[in-house]
Amino acid sequence: MENIHITMPDGAVREVPLGTTAAEIAQQISPRLAKEALVARITPMKKTGGAPASTSPDAAPEAVLDSAGNGEGFLVDLRAPIDEDVRLAILTPKDAEAIQVLRHSAAHLLAAAVLDLFPNVKLGIGPPIDTGFFYDFVREEPFTPEDLARIEKKMRDMASQDIPNERKMLPKAEAIEMYRKWDQGFKCELVEERAIEPMVSFYTTGKFMDFCRGPHIPSTNRIKAFKLMSVAGAYWKGQEGNPQMQRIYGACFYTQQELDEYLHKLEEAKRRDHRRLGAELDLFSVQEEAGPGLIFWHPKGALIRKQMEDWLRDELLRRGYDLVVTPHIMRLDLWKTSGHAGFYKENMFGPIEVEKTDYQLKPMNCPGHILIYKSRLRSYRELPVRLAELGTVYRYERSGVLHGLLRVRGFTQDDAHIFCMPEQIESEVEACIDFAYAVMQTFGFDKYVVELSDWDAKHPENYAGSADDWNRATSALQNTLTKLGVPFKRIEGEAAFYGPKIDVKLIDAIGRPWQLTTVQFDFNLPGRFGLEYVGEDGNRHQPLMVHRALWGSVERFFGILIEHYAGAFPAWLAPVQAEVLPLSEKFSEYAKTVTATLKEAGFRAHLDDRNEKLQAKIRDAQLQKIPYMLIVGGKEAEAGTVSVRHQSKGDLGPRPLAEFISDLRHQVQSRAI
Ligand SMILES: [Zn+2]
Ligand SMILES: [Zn+2]
Repeated sequence: MENIHITMPDGAVREVPLGTTAAEIAQQISPRLAKEALVARITPMKKTGGAPASTSPDAAPEAVLDSAGNGEGFLVDLRAPIDEDVRLAILTPKDAEAIQVLRHSAAHLLAAAVLDLFPNVKLGIGPPIDTGFFYDFVREEPFTPEDLARIEKKMRDMASQDIPNERKMLPKAEAIEMYRKWDQGFKCELVEERAIEPMVSFYTTGKFMDFCRGPHIPSTNRIKAFKLMSVAGAYWKGQEGNPQMQRIYGACFYTQQELDEYLHKLEEAKRRDHRRLGAELDLFSVQEEAGPGLIFWHPKGALIRKQMEDWLRDELLRRGYDLVVTPHIMRLDLWKTSGHAGFYKENMFGPIEVEKTDYQLKPMNCPGHILIYKSRLRSYRELPVRLAELGTVYRYERSGVLHGLLRVRGFTQDDAHIFCMPEQIESEVEACIDFAYAVMQTFGFDKYVVELSDWDAKHPENYAGSADDWNRATSALQNTLTKLGVPFKRIEGEAAFYGPKIDVKLIDAIGRPWQLTTVQFDFNLPGRFGLEYVGEDGNRHQPLMVHRALWGSVERFFGILIEHYAGAFPAWLAPVQAEVLPLSEKFSEYAKTVTATLKEAGFRAHLDDRNEKLQAKIRDAQLQKIPYMLIVGGKEAEAGTVSVRHQSKGDLGPRPLAEFISDLRHQVQSRAI
């Protein structure tokens, strides 16, 4: 019998009979590995031309497991016979890709359980997602929470029966015929569209059978830590107008501990929800009467915004930006010149006609800044020109996607445009990154991830700018990140058509990433607007243009801050920094003096002189997340002290008022977190 050679990740080569499976090799290595293994990755040693049968692209869309996850090879079932010389990696729960396979198998288990309980449902697709899986169904009645509980229980029963997930190949015509008889029209459609002749790949879990490329875990008993989460509406193939389906979402992890952590994080996210806190702390509102997606900043929210903006404007000036202000509506023609009236049309509010001319509510600040740049001839001596604006823009977002402060229709970008010469781009990019760091430090974030989005060099026709432009800008971005020692992920083909960019995502207090800073090159607008500068050689040249926003928008960043701090802002941002609480009415005079002294010293102090018990006042101040409570009674009045209680640290004991003031001043001035 013929033998094949299997190269393991450590370089060891095993000679085994043709048709040996990864499961068998795992067993030879150690019973423990065989027990932990979920799936295998193989990479053929010699290029054989077309993909082997096990990865034929007869995939349902659910099967778009990134089989090129780490750049080579493809995933296969542990039971798949290996029929050539390959490199082999046996993947265990330690591998992210293997967890996705587990989740995909959980989606199959969900469909199997639903079919068992509701035999008439029509099946859509069921892919893995970041935290679990979903499956789409058509059923007349909506799935209720009780249904979900029954389905989950059924899934657990089936999981514990350890039903194998088996791969079957059917001729395409037979596959279609099978689904037709079964009255599964959506599946028919998928097989017709996606299956490559002649054979179509299916996976069975007991009686359940699904058109699927796989791979899958060997059997159901590895699916232990899961929970059905919710039902949402979805359109078949995600297209409005197509049949409505019910999408059942599940969370799925390898261990119960991971699942518990995830569920805890969800609870924590609910507790921090900026929409709830925004109302409880009286920070902002959205008023149906005024329209969706439009934010009303209440006094306390507006006060925080002032602190944020004051910091930003001071930093902008210190870092060599010029502040500008541009109109909210401008002629529609301007947006034709910029191109937005074309490629950005669906995100814009409709034009407003004034004296037979169409005006456009601005969705972007760039054209305004360009007009300021263009207002006179620029010399190379002036470059770089950095124009910054807290620029309010309006964008049409569908009402279905609006979300508190995070997704809105009117918002203020902390926007800036840098016009510079090619030899200045590295130092400008570096300065932007440094500024982004300052934002993170000042507002209390210490974790982040950076992505560099590049073009798809194979399709230059899809992009503005020359290969030279792209290479120069991308290497400037890359060199700067490398020089600063910033780890980053480069994503090819992800850039906008007009230039490469760097995105910085912050990680908040509970580990969620938030897209924030963007530094974006633009090879399109300088040409469209005919931007120029007079170079050292006396000739006219086109400047490079960079768009950059640090917070993204004031609204969105405020929403992120509310959630990051769970509403308990540090003293420099807090709308009320100290709440003065007299022990009883007897001490209201001293309490008034303390409050007035604090206010005179420039602090935001508030006196709670309600006729309430101290405990109730402390509780209220606590709920309002005021950093300091200053309790004053007879002892304090006599000694000129205050009894300090901190929002999270609790009782800090009596302190002379002057000492408390000097401490608070230091905290606020240093913007301590
Ligand atoms: Zn599948
Ligand atoms: Zn811009």
